[in-house]
Amino acid sequence: MNLPFLEQNGVLAIGGIDVARLADRAGRTPFFAYDRAAIDARVRMLRDKLPGDIELHYSIKANPMQAIVHHLATRVDGFDVASASEMALALDTGAGARQIGFAGPGKERDELRRAVASGVNIHLESVTQLHLVAALGWELGLRPNVAIRVNPNFHVGQSGMRMGGGAAQFGIDAEQVPALLREVDAHDVALVGFHLFWGSQCLHAATIIQAQQQSAELVTRLATDLPTAPRYVNMGGGFGIPYFAGDTPLDIDAVTQAMHGWLPQFHDRLPGTRIVLELGRYLVGEAGVYVCRVIDRKASRGRTFLITDGGLHHHLAASGNFGQVLRRNFPALLGNRLNDAPQERCDIVGCLCTPLDRIADDVPLPDARIGDFVVVLQSGAYGRSASPADFLGHPAAIEMLV
Ligand SMILES: *Cc1c(COP(=O)(O)O)cnc(C)c1O
Repeated sequence: MNLPFLEQNGVLAIGGIDVARLADRAGRTPFFAYDRAAIDARVRMLRDKLPGDIELHYSIKANPMQAIVHHLATRVDGFDVASASEMALALDTGAGARQIGFAGPGKERDELRRAVASGVNIHLESVTQLHLVAALGWELGLRPNVAIRVNPNFHVGQSGMRMGGGAAQFGIDAEQVPALLREVDAHDVALVGFHLFWGSQCLHAATIIQAQQQSAELVTRLATDLPTAPRYVNMGGGFGIPYFAGDTPLDIDAVTQAMHGWLPQFHDRLPGTRIVLELGRYLVGEAGVYVCRVIDRKASRGRTFLITDGGLHHHLAASGNFGQVLRRNFPALLGNRLNDAPQERCDIVGCLCTPLDRIADDVPLPDARIGDFVVVLQSGAYGRSASPADFLGHPAAIEMLV
């Protein structure tokens, strides 16, 4: 396996700190550790390859840990948020309201009121939201900034998680946008942009390239009748990371080179409009690990089970219950035994009383002992905040940015 983290004498180290020392720092297992240097390296790599005028946003829902959001605030150009509390987190970093986009199909009146009062860009996902926002602007004596979230009229193939193309709860169908634009015009709101989000966790460069080009076409068409070009077009992201055996990493060079190709024509047609990419897991997913400890081992009818103090209450995605159709293992290893040759095949499970609580099925491992550290890689996104922490009442996982 290609280990992204430094290893010292057979012990995995994150941010230069070995896993046992990290456990001491956390005070106990389980914990998530995120490596700042790995996050920085990812952002730098993207900046080097992307055209210079692309705005890079962080999608907070991927990992809303406060320290990560603050860390990224000085490295990205803006944030995408999907609730009022994520919006508050973004504003607390000192990010400008104009650099924050607020999306979500079910925004409540109270959330929208806070969003209008804060001056962030509200990504409208329905006519109802437009009417609410306009009324709140009047009530607050402010002119709300709005963008239209478009449910694209194109399908993308091979994307991990499709979020557009057919019928969807997200955005406004592209066919309905011209009518909505007339409504926007009739209200006292400022139209600042468009938002297209076609999918997530895509490892296939050609699919992303095609989706971006189709997004550029669609927005250019929708914007033709506007008096001024929109300030930005948020094209989503969709950049995936490899989780499972056989996954090939995204060919980022192909995607960024294609952007250098189509961007000049886009700028010719919509002068002054900036392209925003909103990335979540691609920025932080590979920079994090989840660490739990073997607290028991037992044999059962020919199989060996390693029982840990962790589980799906901390890391639902690794258990296979966060949207996966077929359960596959996240990369997992014994973090303190990297130099020991595999000797047996084990099932690593969590401590919850449910058969759903699995960490890795049938993996080759050195003969595991009670006290060994089980490390799950690719755990920097959709981990702690995407897990049912209260289920069974065990302690929450610690988080550290190192
Ligand atoms: C979830 C989400 C993202 C982030 O997706 P990743 O796969 O983590 O990059 C970006 N934009 C919107 C609108 C989202 O809902």
